Amino acid sequence: MSSNDPQLHVIFLPYMAPGHMMPMVDMARLFAARGVKVTIITTTMNALLFQNAVDRDINSGRQIALEILRLPTAEFGLPEGCENISSTTTPEMTVKLFQAIAMLQQPMEQLLHERRPNCIVADIFFPWTTDVAAELGIPRLVFNGGGFFYLCVKECIELYAPHNSVASETETFAVPGIPHQIELTRSQLPDIVKAKNEFSALFDRIKDAERRSHGVLMNSFYELEPSYVDQYKQFVGIKAWDVGPVSLSNRDTTEKADRGNRASITEHKCLSWLDSKEPNSVLYVCFGSLTRFSTAQHLEIATALEASGCPFIWVVGKVLKSTKGREEDEWWLPEGFEARMMEGKKGLIIRGWAPQVLILDHQAIGGFLTHCGWNSILEGVSAGVPLITWPLFAEQFFNEKLITQVLKIGVGVGNKFWSAWATEDVELVKREDIEKAVSMVMDDGDDAKEMRKRAKQLGEMAKMAVEEGGSSYANITTLIEDIRLCERK
Ligand code: UDP
Repeated sequence: MSSNDPQLHVIFLPYMAPGHMMPMVDMARLFAARGVKVTIITTTMNALLFQNAVDRDINSGRQIALEILRLPTAEFGLPEGCENISSTTTPEMTVKLFQAIAMLQQPMEQLLHERRPNCIVADIFFPWTTDVAAELGIPRLVFNGGGFFYLCVKECIELYAPHNSVASETETFAVPGIPHQIELTRSQLPDIVKAKNEFSALFDRIKDAERRSHGVLMNSFYELEPSYVDQYKQFVGIKAWDVGPVSLSNRDTTEKADRGNRASITEHKCLSWLDSKEPNSVLYVCFGSLTRFSTAQHLEIATALEASGCPFIWVVGKVLKSTKGREEDEWWLPEGFEARMMEGKKGLIIRGWAPQVLILDHQAIGGFLTHCGWNSILEGVSAGVPLITWPLFAEQFFNEKLITQVLKIGVGVGNKFWSAWATEDVELVKREDIEKAVSMVMDDGDDAKEMRKRAKQLGEMAKMAVEEGGSSYANITTLIEDIRLCERK
């Protein structure tokens, strides 16, 4: 930016789920670090989740502000404070929250008209922002929470419908049209890919709004999935900028420790436990912010971790409320398990929110058992550790294939079934399969060594991408210049 250029103002509209909101807040902060004036529009409870980070930025002289709207939760029968998808406990609550968030369109539109920014960066779940941007004569950039590989695979499945040529749900098929040989099964595809459902109209609208946008903003980096970055640009026919991994912008311990929420463990307890372990010896186990397992699945995980003998940190999520009327302990674990694990520091249990990036970046971490949410994948890759993949829902099975079949930096536990909620009817992933995957990654066999080496190399590339001179850093520069050019037209 030359000193004569007027300061740009960009407004960010993150969706209210950690996997969307956290990377978008990181992106907003990256723009502010490059001299752009940034405003983030969100709701009261969500603002609290990143207020500290924003305050730190303001104190260091960046121009970043929050605009806070009231979310009509009571009107939809939601408990007070339930403003984020991660705080819903049943599918019905999630639908109500979607509806409450949809009510923000009018006040958000009003704010955008009043503030008249130079650009709107909005989540894919706010498709109406494309039209508001057109009214204001400014670019809208779509933030898509996933990666390029997933988008290309989805596009090719929609185009060629290879899943319609297999005889059963579990017979594998290859995905035509993409640069690598990828195998999937019908049972691993999201419901919406297989048949129209109640969300199809919304997703059609999202796609239409995306293709009419100025460009797509992605949390990825070129070196991770180069042929898919190029292919996706051809598919969408609009510009795309990959500016990640954005979590790497959280550099010091405080930033990493309070990213996204207040952690359920102190920084000190977490780090001193890790400090007591050998390098690359600890398995980190976390299934993101939305997964709800049954108590039976928790039993399988606990038994496998204990039997593996590998030191671990397990971020235990809330279990799914029983459909058979039993009231379960929110964070159910088998009797005596935690006490046994604490003895001799075999395992550390975190109930609730973990400082994930802080943990992954510790030298003691040697592997990450993940549900394959895109942010978790990128954070694992950035930390340079091999992954154990256990995809469950959304686009996670596609992300798994990038890890196990393209990059070859991970091994799957073998989950075969896509399911939005881990209900009691879902086939369990068995303890033997979990234990086998753990030993394949954590025991130092030749294959594991190779995987570890590749993961480390990718981690280095990720870090280089966000440094001055790196691909993602350069993309932010050209993106800001692009917004400026739109302004001059
Ligand atoms: N996360 C965290 N602590 C937790 C659980 C999740 O910091 O205890 C963060 C994680 O680092 C990631 C995000 O929440 O940035 C989850 O996004 P992801 O795409 O991996 O999965 P989702 O929660 O959307 O399924």
